Amino acid sequence: RKLAKTIMVTGGAGFIGSHVVRLFVNKYPDYLIVNLDALTYAGNLENLKDIEDKSNYIFERGDITDEKRMQELFEKYAFDGVIHLAAESHVDRSILDPLQFVRTNVLGTANLLNVARKNWNGNYAGKRFYHVSTDEVYGSLGAEGFFTEETPYDPRSPYSASKAASDHMVMAYYHTYHLPVVMSNCSNNYGSYHFPEKLIPLMINNIRNNKPLPVYGKGENVRDWLWVEDHARAIDTIYHNGKEGEKYNVGGFNEWKNIDLVHLLCSIMDRKLGRTEGESAELITYVTDRPGHDLRYAIDATKLNRELGWKPSLQFEEGLEKTVDWYLANTEWINHVTSGDYQKYYLEQYEQR
Ligand code: NAD
Repeated sequence: RKLAKTIMVTGGAGFIGSHVVRLFVNKYPDYLIVNLDALTYAGNLENLKDIEDKSNYIFERGDITDEKRMQELFEKYAFDGVIHLAAESHVDRSILDPLQFVRTNVLGTANLLNVARKNWNGNYAGKRFYHVSTDEVYGSLGAEGFFTEETPYDPRSPYSASKAASDHMVMAYYHTYHLPVVMSNCSNNYGSYHFPEKLIPLMINNIRNNKPLPVYGKGENVRDWLWVEDHARAIDTIYHNGKEGEKYNVGGFNEWKNIDLVHLLCSIMDRKLGRTEGESAELITYVTDRPGHDLRYAIDATKLNRELGWKPSLQFEEGLEKTVDWYLANTEWINHVTSGDYQKYYLEQYEQR
């Protein structure tokens, strides 16, 4: 079979990665998509159950910091492209274990860049290294203003600092070795298959189980939210049409104060679960603020819209409603994730085949 392209997606078993893998596998039947993932606590192959038998999809287990393993995969598949999402992604975990974030996000990215450089060896025609990053590298905003692609980096958590360092390595490989890179910095994503340690799935799950809804500080922090499938579409657009050596901000033009978002979720859940209005909101519990908690992130995604024509497809209320419906219809997925049973899926589906 003649393949148009072979692309390695790193972190494809994670939240965003699984949406990117699904989109590419379904949209490009003549591409071979190799999902490379270490299957840490955040990697869950149950996220890809619906496409795992497709002939243009392959899963390979591996750690991006493992040079030998990455070299082996480059030799085996001769990748045309890498879409790099593998990372430690949770800010609270980065405060508990910063070095793990340096290892995966900084060393892992540098290792991948280096293996790609060595294997492509200056033959860059048709090649692309796409690095997926976050708006958190820009630091924290006051009440006014937006992050643009020109905003200087000012990361303030071990997570954002490790992502900032990885972004700098990507640009260093572009300027030093002319590696054909492209990069995007996206705001907070929400949607299906989101590990329930993150705000929106955590709240949905706790409301469902009548457990307290922990809100940091006074809930005044502001985040921009984007539907994960719109992020995956942006990645598709930028992978294919983005200019080499450029970065694109991706966002939802959709800012919400945490506390307002939690109230909105509570009222959607009241309606879905047949509770009286205001019942779920009684579960809200204010907890000590996260140290160094950035006040506000807001992203200006006009470059991506102007140059490549991308814009979000869903209104937030509609996306949130869809997301709630998904979690309510997929309680087995949540139960597996919260009990740790999802890790057995890999053993049963892949190791014992
Ligand atoms: P996630 O934690 O859900 O998934 C990360 C995946 O990477 C997991 O499948 C995990 O097993 C894998 N992984 C971790 N360490 C690895 C290693 N050493 N080798 C190979 N695989 C490894 O994260 P996510 O929310 O899907 O984020 C994906 C990427 O997008 C990250 O780079 C993150 O910084 C970026 N990002 C996330 C958001 C967001 O809102 N979630 C926003 C902007 C950017």
